[in-house]
Amino acid sequence: STAFDVDALRACFPILTREVHGKPLVYLDNAASAQKPDAVIDAVSEYYRQHHANVHRGLHVLAEEATALYEGARSAFARFINAGTPQECVFVRGATEAINLVAGSMTRPGHALSLRPGDRVLLTGMEHHSNIVPWQLACEATGAEIVVAGVLDDGSLDADAFQAHLDAGGVKIASFVWVSNALGTVNPAKALTAAAQAAGAAVLVDACQAAPHLKMDVADLGCDFLAVSGHKMFGPTGIGVLYGRAERLAAMPPYQGGGEMIQRVSFEKSTYADPPHRFEAGTPNMAGAAGLGAAVRFMEDELVSDPLVWEAAQAHEHALLERATRRLEAIEGLRILGTAPGKAAVVSFLVDGVHPYDLGPVLDRAGVAIRTGHHCTEPLMARFGVPATARASFAFYNTLDEADAFADALERGLRFFR
Ligand code: PMP
Repeated sequence: STAFDVDALRACFPILTREVHGKPLVYLDNAASAQKPDAVIDAVSEYYRQHHANVHRGLHVLAEEATALYEGARSAFARFINAGTPQECVFVRGATEAINLVAGSMTRPGHALSLRPGDRVLLTGMEHHSNIVPWQLACEATGAEIVVAGVLDDGSLDADAFQAHLDAGGVKIASFVWVSNALGTVNPAKALTAAAQAAGAAVLVDACQAAPHLKMDVADLGCDFLAVSGHKMFGPTGIGVLYGRAERLAAMPPYQGGGEMIQRVSFEKSTYADPPHRFEAGTPNMAGAAGLGAAVRFMEDELVSDPLVWEAAQAHEHALLERATRRLEAIEGLRILGTAPGKAAVVSFLVDGVHPYDLGPVLDRAGVAIRTGHHCTEPLMARFGVPATARASFAFYNTLDEADAFADALERGLRFFR
């Protein structure tokens, strides 16, 4: 399509011109972490070169500039996900911390979302460990219990099981992944949210893998919370966002205590700042926020804001998925895990007689970066009776030639094993 110029976009990402083992890098590990455009790298660099000071302590020009960059990034992100106000966006280290923040708050007594014995936390069988372990910690602390809606053979969610758990009653929160990092399955997040809320549950959507592939609109989704990691959406590491609906955040106690999150402190009693600062104890990651703001503007300018470009970008990712799938299906003894309709450009696969761990180095020698392992989804691997998979995950900047280079390298590598 003329609306979407993959070569022009690639030119924005300096690392994509690298060579690895003397071969052009083919980076297909985007679900683990996406690469960064110059705009993001420059924003981080500019922050330290020109603007750095501690935030929220005005009184001098640099502090005001650092605060403006930090809060400006918050506003940009809020606009990007169509939040009601920037105050609904809490800066965190990433999705892991976002989920721990909500789960941790729910262990504290005395507010609407406090977990009690008999309460249930509804998860799905395809959650990342970061959307499992925080809930186990919360349930251990409170006597609540986890219930799990399973995964069907094609990698889609068992929606009937999800509804049955809601119908059984007592679900205080449903927390589920929008796009599976291990299989690429895209869950019907809006319908699941509506169903859970109709049953009186709050909803947390893990949007980590949705962020680089889908339009995120929290007003449309209607969720109570949404968790995002900046590094998966072309931003820096160590910065992410917890979106929380204003009423929810206002009713929640702090997660961590420290500077920046208080109104008044005495040894007898402290009072807390309003959201989002109530949840941002200590000196925050200002450089990371500046970089995330730049990532948001990059995605808006280059991809999202022109509907024609966005449509073409989605079609391009779909073409990458189709090409890789078609080539892999032609390989004898290769099985793709996760074939749900409408899935994102993630291909998880196994090859008869070859341990998935052995596929990574073979492809690496050809310059192709993929991930092998359990993808922090051990219960999902157990569901399919496999220890691990090899996973190629695409971004909009990948090309059809790269999909072919990946398949060619895999075919060559397998000849060596067989
Ligand atoms: N959820 C999903 C679906 C993920 O893919 C990841 C990262 N692999 C996470 C949560 C955790 O993100 P982070 O490690 O950036 O906190």
